[in-house]
Amino acid sequence: MTQAFHQTGGWIEVIAGVMFSGKSEELIRRVRRAIIARKRVQVFKSHLDARYAGIYSISSHDGRTVHAVPADSAAQIALQIDPMAHVIAIDEAQFLDEGVVPLVTSLAARGRRVIVAGTDTDFRGEPFGAMPDLMAIAEVVDKLHAICVLCGGPASRNQRLIGGRPAPYDSPTIMVGGTESYEARCRMCFSIPRRDAHQASLL
Ligand code: ADP
Ligand code: ZN
Repeated sequence: MTQAFHQTGGWIEVIAGVMFSGKSEELIRRVRRAIIARKRVQVFKSHLDARYAGIYSISSHDGRTVHAVPADSAAQIALQIDPMAHVIAIDEAQFLDEGVVPLVTSLAARGRRVIVAGTDTDFRGEPFGAMPDLMAIAEVVDKLHAICVLCGGPASRNQRLIGGRPAPYDSPTIMVGGTESYEARCRMCFSIPRRDAHQASLL
């Protein structure tokens, strides 16, 4: 992990990596430590479901509790920002629109510490949403790895499976209400069938 970063004024930290790489754990760890340091913290999470809501209730020793606020767009976050917050944390940022880039930029410019966690590559292994831009403008980027479920090596890919088989390249980036599942895999064990032979010939 990168050395703790601190500067006068605001900055942006990105926690990137595949699913199961521990991004949420790391975000919660940083939030908990900020609370110990008596900072006022606000946590946002896109696609917040009941399964995660409990995990995102972070209690401090002095009895304060931080709940994650659900938000599906940068505008929704902007509307709900607590002007007194020192630290703004955003999880699952890959699902947010490009407006998240100017939003976190202006928060940092106004002296806030911004912690953004998100999956940096989609099921194709390609850059996901605003994550690449967020990684470029951040002061600090940590890229975490999961464990490849096939070989036990460091996993850097989200393997999408549909009916137990690798999903084709042209399936949608975000599947709504789908029956797909995901596995963490390394580059070697990752499989993405391409229907388009032209794509393969570019390699
Ligand atoms: P992320 O936010 O990156 O999706 P989480 O913080 O929610 O990750 O979960 C990380 C946890 O997932 C790990 O501590 C571990 O217990 C569990 N886990 C399940 N499958 C794997 C895997 N293949 N590699 C690493 N951790 C895994
Ligand atoms: Zn592997």
